[in-house]
Amino acid sequence: MSMDRREFLKAAGLSAVAGLGAKGAFDLFMPGDVDASEHEGHSEHGEGHGGMAEAGPKVRLAMAIDVLQLKDHSKVDKIRAACDNAHNIPHWDSKDDEIKWIWEDEYEHVFPDSHNEYLADEVRELPFLLMCNHCDDPPCARVCPVEATFKRPDGIVAQDYHRCIGCRFCMAACPYGSRSFNWFDPRIPLKAEGRKLNPRFPTRMRGVVEKCNFCVERLAEGKKPACVEACPDVMIYGNLADPNSKIRKVLRERVSLRRKLELGTKPSVFYLV
Ligand code: SF4
Repeated sequence: MSMDRREFLKAAGLSAVAGLGAKGAFDLFMPGDVDASEHEGHSEHGEGHGGMAEAGPKVRLAMAIDVLQLKDHSKVDKIRAACDNAHNIPHWDSKDDEIKWIWEDEYEHVFPDSHNEYLADEVRELPFLLMCNHCDDPPCARVCPVEATFKRPDGIVAQDYHRCIGCRFCMAACPYGSRSFNWFDPRIPLKAEGRKLNPRFPTRMRGVVEKCNFCVERLAEGKKPACVEACPDVMIYGNLADPNSKIRKVLRERVSLRRKLELGTKPSVFYLV
């Protein structure tokens, strides 16, 4: 059953802003004042914490994607399906209308500035998974005229769909093509496919931009991002600001790449190769 905005707000308990208490739902849509300790608590899921303090924010959530694991293409499908189902993402026939939260592309397109004719075929032929980079300096947030896109204190670049006016400035500003515009009502293909919708996440409407939200709604409930839950050996998330976190450990041990570093946006998604 699809859920309209009013139903979602009711289910999420936003009425509790008036006094009943629903911090998770509030965090989901309001420019954040998230207590860093909430995210340190995610070490229960394996990221680890409690190391020496480093300069900068206490929490900067990030994702490392083990691309070598994606030789098994069933993992790509599993990860994409987990995100699609968690967020009621519609499937359109035309590429032009596609709504992309996490999608697949090849090395040459992902790292166009790192052309290397001697690159190992093994890497060249790997499927790379792309998502919002949750940049430390997000150009999309700078250009949004209504602050519908904003960076939370935990580093997640979030978006308030209800505030979005569909100007698409953020799409023009994002150098990673991580944002999609709903040219048509996304509920049409969802209904046509007979998809079982996640009643805990709102369907969007025509004229709104959307993207990967780092599963803020799941983090607020103490869960892992859906893609991490689907394939924890591929998707490794954690606190970049914590030197003892699982993501920092894997970044110390493996070679990693980030997209378009020369632009200075400081992406928070790493590709392990
Ligand atoms: S973090 Fe959540 S929203 Fe982002 S790609 Fe993974 S499942 Fe999708």
